[in-house]
Amino acid sequence: MSLFSQMNVQCPSCGATQNIAAVGSVNADRRPDLRAAILDDTFQMMACEDCGTEFRLEPLFNYLEVEKGLWIAAMPGRDMPDFLEVEDRMSAVFDTSYGSGAPAAAKAIGQDLKPRVTFGWPAVKEKLVIDGLGLDDIKVEMLKMELMRRLPEVPLAPGTELRLTGGGDAALNFAWIETVGETAEQSFSVDRMLYDEVAGNEAGWAKIRARLTNGPFVDMQKLYMGEGRAA
Ligand SMILES: [Zn+2]
Repeated sequence: MSLFSQMNVQCPSCGATQNIAAVGSVNADRRPDLRAAILDDTFQMMACEDCGTEFRLEPLFNYLEVEKGLWIAAMPGRDMPDFLEVEDRMSAVFDTSYGSGAPAAAKAIGQDLKPRVTFGWPAVKEKLVIDGLGLDDIKVEMLKMELMRRLPEVPLAPGTELRLTGGGDAALNFAWIETVGETAEQSFSVDRMLYDEVAGNEAGWAKIRARLTNGPFVDMQKLYMGEGRAA
């Protein structure tokens, strides 16, 4: 079941209190419209009833789509520096809901779910884009690292991230996106063959893969933040 709860927030423009429906969980098997809204950047967009200013709530919900094997804890972008703690907390939530601590029926469902943690709207959207293109999210992160080596200009910085935004059989589209403001700064396309190349070189990427998958935050940014998780 998808869950929303009423809460009061202040309009960022005029300060008037707005009573809005904030999402707590999305069940996309039953509400494909919510998946679509995440993909077209309209989910949790609000308009102030006093001044009309549009604003978006930060993501803070669980996304479940059993048919696609997706279980995502979508967190606010500003929480990313605390990813180790969030990973531990969300691993525990997954474990109780669908893992070893869950009732048998839920555990059976959980076998086909990939638990993930994302920070910010562009990141949760990207997981759905990856799914839609039939790609593997771990391999997409490896591809990004490969791209960082090849690109003449790499605007990677805290708050700016590389996200897969779409594509097709021939090419994959990426953009450098500002995590919180969600503005795309620069976009480009790469040959999809490059993904196949990275995906085919399992031995070469084994060490990186191990680091990307040492918790449910599967994102190359974890390799650049702090000490990371102790091996
Ligand atoms: Zn307002």
